[in-house]
Amino acid sequence: MSLPDPTPRFSLSLSHTTKDTAMTSTTKPKITIVGYGSQGRAHALNLRDSGFDVTIGLRPGGPTEIKAKADGFTVKTPAEAVKDAQIVAVLTPDMVQPQLYGEVIEPNIAQGACLLFAHGFNVHYGQITPREDLDVVLVAPKGPGALVRREYEIGRGVPSVYAVYQDKSGHAEQLALTYCAGIGGARQNAIKTTFKEETETDLFGEQAVLCGGATKLVQAGWETLVEAGYQPEVAYYECLHELKLIVDLFYEGGITRMHEFISETAQYGALTRGNYVVDDNTRAQMKKVLTEIQDGTFARQWIAEYAAGNANYKAMKQADLDHPIEEIGKKLRANMKWLSTAPAPVKPAITSEAA
Ligand code: NAD
Ligand code: MG
Repeated sequence: MSLPDPTPRFSLSLSHTTKDTAMTSTTKPKITIVGYGSQGRAHALNLRDSGFDVTIGLRPGGPTEIKAKADGFTVKTPAEAVKDAQIVAVLTPDMVQPQLYGEVIEPNIAQGACLLFAHGFNVHYGQITPREDLDVVLVAPKGPGALVRREYEIGRGVPSVYAVYQDKSGHAEQLALTYCAGIGGARQNAIKTTFKEETETDLFGEQAVLCGGATKLVQAGWETLVEAGYQPEVAYYECLHELKLIVDLFYEGGITRMHEFISETAQYGALTRGNYVVDDNTRAQMKKVLTEIQDGTFARQWIAEYAAGNANYKAMKQADLDHPIEEIGKKLRANMKWLSTAPAPVKPAITSEAA
Protein backbone atom coordinates (compact mmCIF):
# COMPACT_ATOMS: atom_id res chain seq x y z
CA MET A 1 0.00 0.00 0.00
CA SER A 2 1.44 3.36 -0.94
CA LEU A 3 1.24 6.06 1.67
CA PRO A 4 0.54 9.68 0.73
CA ASP A 5 3.64 11.81 0.20
CA PRO A 6 4.23 13.56 3.54
CA THR A 7 6.27 16.35 1.88
CA PRO A 8 4.42 19.65 1.78
CA ARG A 9 4.05 21.33 -1.60
CA PHE A 10 6.10 24.19 -0.22
CA SER A 11 8.70 23.53 2.36
CA LEU A 12 7.63 25.59 5.33
CA SER A 13 9.36 25.86 8.63
CA LEU A 14 7.47 28.70 10.20
CA SER A 15 6.33 28.42 13.77
CA HIS A 16 4.22 30.76 15.91
CA THR A 17 7.28 32.63 17.00
CA THR A 18 9.06 32.92 13.65
CA LYS A 19 9.47 36.48 12.46
CA ASP A 20 8.74 37.70 8.95
CA THR A 21 12.42 37.72 8.07
CA ALA A 22 13.06 34.11 9.00
CA MET A 23 12.25 32.39 5.71
CA THR A 24 14.51 32.16 2.73
CA SER A 25 13.09 33.14 -0.63
CA THR A 26 13.18 29.54 -1.88
CA THR A 27 10.62 28.48 0.71
CA LYS A 28 8.23 31.34 0.14
CA PRO A 29 4.93 30.68 -1.60
CA LYS A 30 4.04 32.82 -4.60
CA ILE A 31 1.23 35.17 -3.61
CA THR A 32 -1.44 36.91 -5.64
CA ILE A 33 -3.47 39.66 -4.05
CA VAL A 34 -6.79 40.50 -5.68
CA GLY A 35 -7.72 44.08 -4.80
CA TYR A 36 -5.40 46.97 -3.99
CA GLY A 37 -7.39 49.06 -1.51
CA SER A 38 -6.92 49.59 2.21
CA GLN A 39 -5.78 46.05 3.09
CA GLY A 40 -4.58 44.96 -0.36
CA ARG A 41 -1.94 47.64 -0.75
CA ALA A 42 -0.63 47.24 2.80
CA HIS A 43 -0.41 43.44 2.55
CA ALA A 44 1.26 43.62 -0.87
CA LEU A 45 3.93 46.12 0.19
CA ASN A 46 4.66 44.32 3.47
CA LEU A 47 4.85 40.89 1.83
CA ARG A 48 7.17 42.19 -0.88
CA ASP A 49 9.41 43.79 1.75
CA SER A 50 9.40 40.42 3.57
CA GLY A 51 10.79 38.83 0.39
CA PHE A 52 7.68 37.29 -1.15
CA ASP A 53 6.93 37.25 -4.88
CA VAL A 54 3.68 39.23 -5.07
CA THR A 55 1.40 39.77 -8.07
CA ILE A 56 -1.67 41.99 -8.01
CA GLY A 57 -4.98 41.03 -9.64
CA LEU A 58 -7.15 43.99 -10.67
CA ARG A 59 -9.77 44.86 -13.23
CA PRO A 60 -8.08 46.66 -16.14
CA GLY A 61 -8.76 50.39 -15.82
CA GLY A 62 -10.02 49.97 -12.25
CA PRO A 63 -9.42 52.82 -9.79
CA THR A 64 -6.38 51.33 -8.03
CA GLU A 65 -4.53 49.87 -11.03
CA ILE A 66 -2.38 52.99 -11.47
CA LYS A 67 -1.45 52.95 -7.79
CA ALA A 68 -0.36 49.30 -7.85
CA LYS A 69 1.73 49.89 -10.97
CA ALA A 70 3.25 53.06 -9.49
CA ASP A 71 4.26 50.98 -6.46
CA GLY A 72 6.16 48.73 -8.86
CA PHE A 73 3.92 45.66 -8.87
CA THR A 74 3.08 43.41 -11.78
CA VAL A 75 -0.66 43.88 -12.31
CA LYS A 76 -2.69 41.30 -14.18
CA THR A 77 -6.39 40.67 -14.59
CA PRO A 78 -7.72 38.71 -11.60
CA ALA A 79 -8.22 35.65 -13.87
CA GLU A 80 -4.58 35.69 -15.05
CA ALA A 81 -3.12 36.66 -11.69
CA VAL A 82 -4.58 33.76 -9.72
CA LYS A 83 -3.49 31.00 -12.14
CA ASP A 84 0.00 30.25 -10.84
CA ALA A 85 -0.32 31.57 -7.30
CA GLN A 86 0.12 29.31 -4.29
CA ILE A 87 -1.75 31.76 -2.06
CA VAL A 88 -4.59 33.91 -3.42
CA ALA A 89 -5.61 36.68 -1.03
CA VAL A 90 -9.09 38.01 -1.78
CA LEU A 91 -8.91 41.64 -0.68
CA THR A 92 -11.72 43.26 -2.61
CA PRO A 93 -14.76 44.69 -0.81
CA ASP A 94 -16.74 41.89 0.84
CA MET A 95 -19.84 42.48 -1.26
CA VAL A 96 -18.05 41.92 -4.59
CA GLN A 97 -16.29 38.74 -3.46
CA PRO A 98 -19.04 36.14 -4.14
CA GLN A 99 -19.39 37.04 -7.83
CA LEU A 100 -15.64 37.51 -8.23
CA TYR A 101 -14.99 34.11 -6.66
CA GLY A 102 -17.63 32.31 -8.70
CA GLU A 103 -16.89 33.88 -12.07
CA VAL A 104 -13.16 34.53 -11.95
CA ILE A 105 -11.28 32.93 -9.08
CA GLU A 106 -12.79 29.45 -8.91
CA PRO A 107 -12.43 28.74 -12.65
CA ASN A 108 -8.79 29.89 -12.66
CA ILE A 109 -7.16 29.19 -9.29
CA ALA A 110 -4.68 26.29 -9.31
CA GLN A 111 -5.63 22.89 -7.88
CA GLY A 112 -4.58 22.69 -4.25
CA ALA A 113 -3.84 26.41 -3.87
CA CYS A 114 -4.62 28.36 -0.73
CA LEU A 115 -7.51 30.83 -0.74
CA LEU A 116 -7.04 33.54 1.87
CA PHE A 117 -9.51 36.10 3.23
CA ALA A 118 -9.05 39.06 5.58
CA HIS A 119 -12.61 38.77 6.89
CA GLY A 120 -14.72 35.64 7.21
CA PHE A 121 -18.03 37.20 6.14
CA ASN A 122 -18.65 35.45 2.81
CA VAL A 123 -17.52 32.00 3.84
CA HIS A 124 -19.26 32.15 7.22
CA TYR A 125 -22.57 33.36 5.79
CA GLY A 126 -22.47 30.87 2.92
CA GLN A 127 -21.96 33.43 0.14
CA ILE A 128 -18.81 31.62 -1.02
CA THR A 129 -18.44 27.85 -0.92
CA PRO A 130 -14.79 27.26 -1.74
CA ARG A 131 -13.78 24.44 -4.09
CA GLU A 132 -12.97 21.25 -2.21
CA ASP A 133 -9.34 20.95 -3.33
CA LEU A 134 -8.39 24.35 -1.88
CA ASP A 135 -6.97 25.27 1.48
CA VAL A 136 -9.08 28.10 2.88
CA VAL A 137 -7.68 30.40 5.56
CA LEU A 138 -8.20 33.77 7.14
CA VAL A 139 -5.63 36.35 8.22
CA ALA A 140 -7.24 39.45 9.65
CA PRO A 141 -5.14 42.29 10.98
CA LYS A 142 -6.97 44.10 13.75
CA GLY A 143 -6.46 47.50 12.18
CA PRO A 144 -6.94 49.42 8.95
CA GLY A 145 -4.55 48.94 6.03
CA ALA A 146 -2.67 52.20 6.46
CA LEU A 147 -1.81 51.17 10.01
CA VAL A 148 -0.78 47.67 8.86
CA ARG A 149 1.73 49.34 6.55
CA ARG A 150 2.89 52.06 8.95
CA GLU A 151 3.51 49.65 11.82
CA TYR A 152 5.43 47.29 9.53
CA GLU A 153 7.63 50.14 8.29
CA ILE A 154 8.64 51.08 11.82
CA GLY A 155 9.44 47.47 12.66
CA ARG A 156 6.28 46.64 14.51
CA GLY A 157 3.03 44.99 13.45
CA VAL A 158 -0.70 45.11 13.94
CA PRO A 159 -2.12 42.30 16.10
CA SER A 160 -3.82 39.77 13.87
CA VAL A 161 -6.09 36.77 14.08
CA TYR A 162 -5.90 33.76 11.77
CA ALA A 163 -8.12 30.77 11.12
CA VAL A 164 -8.38 27.67 8.99
CA TYR A 165 -11.69 26.78 7.32
CA GLN A 166 -10.53 24.03 5.00
CA ASP A 167 -7.23 22.16 5.29
CA LYS A 168 -6.82 20.04 2.20
CA SER A 169 -3.01 20.03 2.12
CA GLY A 170 -2.44 19.48 5.81
CA HIS A 171 -0.42 22.72 5.82
CA ALA A 172 -3.16 25.33 5.75
CA GLU A 173 -2.35 26.66 9.21
CA GLN A 174 1.32 27.06 8.33
CA LEU A 175 0.37 28.95 5.18
CA ALA A 176 -1.84 31.30 7.19
CA LEU A 177 1.00 31.88 9.65
CA THR A 178 3.49 32.42 6.83
CA TYR A 179 1.26 35.12 5.35
CA CYS A 180 0.56 36.60 8.77
CA ALA A 181 4.30 36.80 9.43
CA GLY A 182 4.88 38.36 6.01
CA ILE A 183 2.53 41.25 6.69
CA GLY A 184 4.12 41.81 10.10
CA GLY A 185 1.22 40.37 12.07
CA ALA A 186 3.34 37.73 13.77
CA ARG A 187 5.53 40.42 15.30
CA GLN A 188 2.50 40.94 17.49
CA ASN A 189 0.40 38.29 19.10
CA ALA A 190 -1.21 36.26 16.30
CA ILE A 191 -4.25 34.61 17.84
CA LYS A 192 -5.87 31.53 16.34
CA THR A 193 -9.61 31.91 15.81
CA THR A 194 -12.37 30.47 13.61
CA PHE A 195 -14.17 32.02 10.64
CA LYS A 196 -17.30 32.20 12.81
CA GLU A 197 -15.60 33.92 15.73
CA GLU A 198 -13.69 36.38 13.55
CA THR A 199 -16.75 37.31 11.54
CA GLU A 200 -19.13 37.73 14.46
CA THR A 201 -16.73 39.55 16.78
CA ASP A 202 -15.43 41.81 14.00
CA LEU A 203 -18.96 42.86 13.05
CA PHE A 204 -19.96 43.32 16.69
CA GLY A 205 -16.89 45.43 17.47
CA GLU A 206 -17.37 47.76 14.55
CA GLN A 207 -21.13 48.08 15.04
CA ALA A 208 -21.56 48.32 18.80
CA VAL A 209 -18.30 49.85 20.02
CA LEU A 210 -15.72 51.08 17.54
CA CYS A 211 -17.56 52.68 14.62
CA GLY A 212 -21.29 52.67 15.36
CA GLY A 213 -21.19 53.01 19.14
CA ALA A 214 -18.37 55.56 19.31
CA THR A 215 -19.81 57.75 16.54
CA LYS A 216 -23.27 57.89 18.07
CA LEU A 217 -21.86 58.50 21.57
CA VAL A 218 -19.80 61.45 20.30
CA GLN A 219 -22.67 62.94 18.26
CA ALA A 220 -25.19 62.56 21.08
CA GLY A 221 -22.81 64.07 23.64
CA TRP A 222 -22.05 67.03 21.38
CA GLU A 223 -25.74 67.59 20.59
CA THR A 224 -26.63 67.50 24.30
CA LEU A 225 -24.15 70.30 25.10
CA VAL A 226 -24.99 72.43 22.04
CA GLU A 227 -28.75 72.11 22.61
CA ALA A 228 -28.15 73.29 26.19
CA GLY A 229 -26.56 76.47 24.80
CA TYR A 230 -22.85 75.73 25.12
CA GLN A 231 -20.42 76.78 22.37
CA PRO A 232 -20.18 74.13 19.63
CA GLU A 233 -16.40 74.52 19.56
CA VAL A 234 -16.04 73.83 23.28
CA ALA A 235 -18.44 70.88 22.92
CA TYR A 236 -16.27 69.54 20.08
CA TYR A 237 -13.17 69.49 22.28
CA GLU A 238 -15.04 67.77 25.09
CA CYS A 239 -16.89 65.11 23.10
CA LEU A 240 -14.70 64.33 20.10
CA HIS A 241 -11.17 65.72 20.32
CA GLU A 242 -10.38 64.53 23.83
CA LEU A 243 -11.63 61.04 23.09
CA LYS A 244 -8.26 60.34 21.47
CA LEU A 245 -6.42 61.16 24.68
CA ILE A 246 -8.57 58.69 26.60
CA VAL A 247 -8.32 56.00 23.91
CA ASP A 248 -4.52 56.40 23.88
CA LEU A 249 -4.48 55.65 27.60
CA PHE A 250 -6.72 52.59 27.06
CA TYR A 251 -4.37 51.45 24.30
CA GLU A 252 -1.22 51.89 26.38
CA GLY A 253 -2.40 50.51 29.70
CA GLY A 254 -6.09 49.79 29.74
CA ILE A 255 -8.68 51.44 31.93
CA THR A 256 -6.19 51.24 34.82
CA ARG A 257 -3.94 53.70 33.02
CA MET A 258 -6.82 56.08 32.36
CA HIS A 259 -7.60 56.12 36.09
CA GLU A 260 -3.94 56.89 36.80
CA PHE A 261 -3.99 59.95 34.58
CA ILE A 262 -7.38 61.59 35.05
CA SER A 263 -8.34 63.69 38.07
CA GLU A 264 -10.14 62.30 41.07
CA THR A 265 -13.15 64.40 40.11
CA ALA A 266 -13.15 62.85 36.62
CA GLN A 267 -12.81 59.39 38.13
CA TYR A 268 -15.69 59.92 40.57
CA GLY A 269 -17.87 61.34 37.79
CA ALA A 270 -17.03 58.46 35.46
CA LEU A 271 -17.70 55.84 38.11
CA THR A 272 -21.03 57.29 39.18
CA ARG A 273 -22.36 58.57 35.82
CA GLY A 274 -21.00 56.21 33.15
CA ASN A 275 -23.78 53.76 33.90
CA TYR A 276 -26.40 56.47 33.25
CA VAL A 277 -25.34 56.28 29.61
CA VAL A 278 -24.43 52.63 29.23
CA ASP A 279 -27.30 51.20 31.24
CA ASP A 280 -29.31 47.98 31.11
CA ASN A 281 -31.12 49.22 28.03
CA THR A 282 -27.80 49.85 26.24
CA ARG A 283 -26.66 46.36 27.18
CA ALA A 284 -29.92 44.90 25.86
CA GLN A 285 -29.40 46.81 22.62
CA MET A 286 -25.86 45.45 22.36
CA LYS A 287 -27.25 41.97 22.79
CA LYS A 288 -29.70 42.73 19.97
CA VAL A 289 -26.82 43.83 17.74
CA LEU A 290 -25.05 40.56 18.51
CA THR A 291 -28.15 38.43 17.96
CA GLU A 292 -28.74 40.01 14.54
CA ILE A 293 -25.13 39.18 13.63
CA GLN A 294 -25.38 35.61 14.91
CA ASP A 295 -28.70 34.77 13.26
CA GLY A 296 -27.71 36.32 9.92
CA THR A 297 -30.22 39.21 10.03
CA PHE A 298 -27.50 41.83 9.61
CA ALA A 299 -25.77 39.93 6.80
CA ARG A 300 -29.03 39.43 4.87
CA GLN A 301 -29.93 43.10 5.28
CA TRP A 302 -26.52 44.35 4.11
CA ILE A 303 -26.43 41.95 1.14
CA ALA A 304 -29.94 43.08 0.10
CA GLU A 305 -29.04 46.75 0.54
CA TYR A 306 -25.95 46.35 -1.62
CA ALA A 307 -27.88 44.42 -4.28
CA ALA A 308 -30.55 47.14 -4.37
CA GLY A 309 -27.98 49.87 -5.09
CA ASN A 310 -27.16 51.14 -1.57
CA ALA A 311 -29.70 53.98 -1.52
CA ASN A 312 -30.30 53.75 2.25
CA TYR A 313 -26.63 53.24 2.99
CA LYS A 314 -25.65 56.29 0.96
CA ALA A 315 -28.33 58.47 2.57
CA MET A 316 -27.34 57.45 6.11
CA LYS A 317 -23.66 58.01 5.37
CA GLN A 318 -24.42 61.46 3.93
CA ALA A 319 -26.28 62.36 7.12
CA ASP A 320 -23.13 61.52 9.12
CA LEU A 321 -21.00 63.62 6.76
CA ASP A 322 -23.48 66.52 7.00
CA HIS A 323 -23.71 66.45 10.82
CA PRO A 324 -22.87 69.93 12.15
CA ILE A 325 -20.03 68.54 14.30
CA GLU A 326 -18.19 67.88 11.03
CA GLU A 327 -18.23 71.54 10.06
CA ILE A 328 -17.08 72.68 13.50
CA GLY A 329 -14.35 70.04 13.49
CA LYS A 330 -13.05 71.08 10.09
CA LYS A 331 -12.74 74.68 11.27
CA LEU A 332 -10.96 73.75 14.52
CA ARG A 333 -8.65 71.21 12.94
CA ALA A 334 -7.45 73.83 10.45
CA ASN A 335 -5.63 75.39 13.42
CA MET A 336 -4.18 72.15 14.68
CA LYS A 337 -0.89 72.53 12.86
CA TRP A 338 0.43 69.18 14.02
CA LEU A 339 -2.28 67.42 12.03
CA SER A 340 -0.88 68.58 8.70
CA THR A 341 2.25 66.51 9.30
CA ALA A 342 0.32 63.52 10.56
CA PRO A 343 0.07 60.41 8.38
CA ALA A 344 -2.84 60.33 5.95
CA PRO A 345 -6.09 59.45 7.70
CA VAL A 346 -6.64 55.75 7.79
CA LYS A 347 -9.74 54.24 6.28
CA PRO A 348 -12.05 52.79 8.92
CA ALA A 349 -12.16 49.04 9.26
CA ILE A 350 -15.51 48.70 7.59
CA THR A 351 -15.96 47.90 3.98
CA SER A 352 -18.96 49.23 2.29
CA GLU A 353 -18.67 49.88 -1.39
CA ALA A 354 -17.04 48.53 -4.47
CA ALA A 355 -14.19 50.92 -5.10
P1 NAD B 1 -11.14 48.50 -0.29
O1 NAD B 1 -12.52 48.94 -0.61
O2 NAD B 1 -10.22 49.45 0.38
O3 NAD B 1 -10.38 48.02 -1.62
C1 NAD B 1 -10.97 47.23 -2.57
C2 NAD B 1 -10.04 46.92 -3.73
O4 NAD B 1 -10.67 45.93 -4.55
C3 NAD B 1 -9.75 48.09 -4.64
O5 NAD B 1 -8.46 47.95 -5.16
C4 NAD B 1 -10.76 47.90 -5.75
O6 NAD B 1 -10.37 48.53 -6.95
C5 NAD B 1 -10.74 46.40 -5.89
N1 NAD B 1 -11.92 45.81 -6.50
C6 NAD B 1 -13.22 46.15 -6.33
N2 NAD B 1 -14.01 45.36 -7.07
C7 NAD B 1 -13.18 44.47 -7.70
C8 NAD B 1 -13.38 43.40 -8.61
N3 NAD B 1 -14.61 43.07 -9.00
N4 NAD B 1 -12.30 42.74 -9.05
C9 NAD B 1 -11.05 43.05 -8.67
N5 NAD B 1 -10.79 44.06 -7.82
C10 NAD B 1 -11.86 44.75 -7.35
O7 NAD B 1 -11.27 47.13 0.56
P2 NAD B 1 -10.68 46.83 2.02
O8 NAD B 1 -11.31 47.75 3.02
O9 NAD B 1 -9.19 46.73 1.95
O10 NAD B 1 -11.30 45.38 2.30
C11 NAD B 1 -10.74 44.21 1.72
C12 NAD B 1 -10.99 43.03 2.67
O11 NAD B 1 -10.29 43.24 3.88
C13 NAD B 1 -12.46 42.85 3.07
O12 NAD B 1 -12.71 41.48 3.17
C14 NAD B 1 -12.54 43.50 4.43
O13 NAD B 1 -13.58 43.02 5.24
C15 NAD B 1 -11.18 43.12 4.99
N6 NAD B 1 -10.69 43.97 6.08
C16 NAD B 1 -10.66 45.32 5.92
C17 NAD B 1 -10.15 46.12 6.92
C18 NAD B 1 -10.05 47.62 6.71
O14 NAD B 1 -9.55 48.27 7.61
N7 NAD B 1 -10.45 48.22 5.61
C19 NAD B 1 -9.68 45.54 8.12
C20 NAD B 1 -9.67 44.13 8.25
C21 NAD B 1 -10.18 43.37 7.21
MG1 MG C 1 -13.57 45.07 11.31
